[in-house]
Order: sequence, then C-alpha cells, then structure tokens
Amino acid sequence: MVGTELLLGEVIDTNSAFLAQRLAELGVDVYYVARVGDNRQRIAKLVQEACQRADLVITAGGLGPTADDLTKEAVADAFGLEMELRKEVLAVLEERFRLLETCMSDNNRRQAYLPKGAQALPNPKGTAPGVLLELAEGKAVIMLPGVPVELEAMMDDSVVPYIKQRLGENEAATIYSRVLRFYGLGESSIDSLVQEIMEAGTNPTIAPYAGGGEVRLRITAKAASETEAARLIEPVEEQLLNKLGPYFYGHGDEQMEMVVARLLLSQGKTVAVAESCTGGLISNRLTNIPGSSGYYLQGAITYSNAAKESVLGVDPKLLAEYGAVSEPVAKAMAAGVRQWAGADLGISVTGIAGPGGGTEVKPVGLVFFGLSHAGGTKGYRRQFAGDRLQIKDRAALAALNILRQHLLESK
Ligand code: ATP
Ligand code: MG
Repeated sequence: MVGTELLLGEVIDTNSAFLAQRLAELGVDVYYVARVGDNRQRIAKLVQEACQRADLVITAGGLGPTADDLTKEAVADAFGLEMELRKEVLAVLEERFRLLETCMSDNNRRQAYLPKGAQALPNPKGTAPGVLLELAEGKAVIMLPGVPVELEAMMDDSVVPYIKQRLGENEAATIYSRVLRFYGLGESSIDSLVQEIMEAGTNPTIAPYAGGGEVRLRITAKAASETEAARLIEPVEEQLLNKLGPYFYGHGDEQMEMVVARLLLSQGKTVAVAESCTGGLISNRLTNIPGSSGYYLQGAITYSNAAKESVLGVDPKLLAEYGAVSEPVAKAMAAGVRQWAGADLGISVTGIAGPGGGTEVKPVGLVFFGLSHAGGTKGYRRQFAGDRLQIKDRAALAALNILRQHLLESK
C-alpha cells in the first residue's frame, strides 16, 4: 500500500482489507501487508523484499499523474527495467481525455509509460492504467491505483480472473469464514471455555475478537469449494454453541437490533422506548432497520426529572426517595412509556454516563433498565466500564439484549 497519507494516518487503508477479502475468497494465503510512503527508493526496496517472500505482490496507489506517484518507476528500479512508452496505452488515454473534453498534460502522458515487458490493465473508472509485470520463477507484481472505486473495479475485472487462471482449476480453493456473535461474556472467559475446541484442529481455525461490548468468534475453513468449507465448519459451530449457547445471539453482520426486530415482528409485538443517559441511541438502533414501523411505536428522551414526571408519569416521590438513577425509577419509566404508547413492551434506561456525576454508591457507568409487559415490570442493574460514549453505547446494547431475552422467553 503506497502513500504517505496512509503513514500519516490521514487516510485509513481500506484497500488492503478489500484485497485481502477477495484473495481469501480465492483461497490465496495473504502473508504480509505493508505500507510505504511516496518515496522511490523505499518503494523499490519494499517490492524487492516482497517478491522474495511471496509469489504474487499487489501494490495499490502511486499510479497517478503527479510527481509523488512513483510506483511504476520504483518497481522498474527494483528489477532493473527501463520505462517505455506504450502507444496503445497512450491511445486509450487520449480517447478518454477527448471524451472528457479536457486537455491532456505531459503529466498525463507519463501514465502511458510502463516498465519494459509489463502489461497494462484497463482502468474502467479512471485514467491511471494498472500494471501486470511477470517476472522469473512464476513471480508477478500487479500495480493498482489507490482510489478505492478504481482499485475495486480492476481487482474484479482483471486481477481475480488472472489469479484464477494462474491457480488453475485443480488447485482452486476458497477460504470461507463464519462469525458467531456473543453477548454477556468477556473475551477471556470465552477463550478459556472454548480453548479445547480451538486447539483441536487447524482446519477450521477459530479466532476470537472482542469489541463494542461483545465477543465474536470467527471460524475459518479452507476447502475446494464454499459448500465443502461450510461442511467443515458445521460440526465446530455446533460444539461452540453447545458450550456458549446462552450467550450466542447472531451470525456475521447480524446486529443485536436486527435480532430484536426479527423477534418482535415474528411475535407481532410493538415496543416503546424511554431513554435518559442513552439520549436516543436505543430508538436510533431500533429504527435503523427497514420495516421498523412494524414494531416501533414511539420513544421519549426524558433527560430531566421534570420530563420523567410529565411525559412518563414517574411519581416525584420515587425520584426524591431513590434518585433518577435507580431501579424503581427505571421500572416506572418503562411502565410509563408502555402505557403512553399503548405498546406491548416498554423498555427504559437511566444511568450515569460520566465522566462527572458519579458517587461512591452510584459510580460512573452504573445503569438501570426497566422492561414492562402485560405480565408485569422488571428492573435490571448493570455496571459498565469505558468513557462516556462507550457507556452510552454499551447501555443501548444491553437494553436491546434485555428485549431480546424477554422475547425469547415469552415465545
Ligand atoms: P490518482 O490517479 O488519483 O493519483 P493513484 O494511483 O496515484 O491515483 P494515490 O494518489 O496513491 O493513487 O491515492 C489516491 C487516493 O486514493 C488517496 O488520496 C486516498 O484517498 C485513496 N487511497 C490511496 N490508498 C488507499 C488505501 N490503501 N486505502 C484507502 N484509500 C486509499
Ligand atoms: Mg496519486
């Protein structure tokens, strides 16, 4: 990945993630990802090293017309090649500029130069052509532009077919993953619970990762086809779910609110939300899903005590006796919003997001929830770690999980 902006952290390197995903689908093992600035010597050195440790090297960025776009020249340096003008590439560029009705500068003409012996790869979304340079011993360097839409189109149009052809039909393989999502369990406890299963095999492999208040386990298998890989994954998934079933909530990109939405819709239930410290996050997440009008009726952000009294009908005596951040108030909020909306379920949250406002008995991160339904109202107490925004996020996720568990139990 070429570009000083990547080293400065100004641009996040999404190209390597995209390329890695495509390569995994092809069953190609990615061994290294490296970033380098716009410096001719350093790019040349990196490409030389990369060719020693891999059969195929893909570069991204630095193919443009400006002085800091040096990738082709640097790759030519790395293998002692001259740059040469390619008439057919120049013709494509000239045609493109004619259609755009702009003048072509000398800089743009530079884009028609390729290392000797290299092949141009068409760029349907931009001006800079890509480059394929085949070297001795079956090694190759592929150079792609840095602009993500251009790189993505060229990867799919030119590079994936090239790699498939190189791999040949017989060696065709795929790396396929399935992600299981868990809530309510820390990464270290998942680790110790499933260590045996994790150490049992190398295909598939299991990798845990934690973030955003949840843990995910990625099961990855390599096989000749996706069906075959899925068959390898199935028994491992079953073993994992046997151990961690109660904490499991979804697969892959399935977020907590999607699971809640699915359960609400399938049970024909509606929900109303009363939020304090989450400032609308729960309503936001519940309404991020298309079709949310099928279950979401209304929400209230009742931040002040006065709002809790006037909108939700919370008894001022409860607020005076227990304080706004308390289980009785959370329960009264949930019951109040449920009644106000005429919903099947009322969910509420009230807590201390910090950084100020904590006390010995009510520290920062302490959050109470209420869940009200036809059969009664229940309160929950949770303690979260993190900064203000993390606590807000985690509280919203916890509220959604309370809804999910209630819906599972009441099925
Ligand atoms: P151009 O013809 O636009 O000059 P280029 O091949 O020279 O294309 P760069 O100049 O290196 O590419 O990058 C162009 C833009 O693409 C960068 O400003 C950046 O926004 C984006 N970009 C570059 N590399 C990456 C990357 N690895 N991940 C995501 N975006 C990137
Ligand atoms: Mg550029």
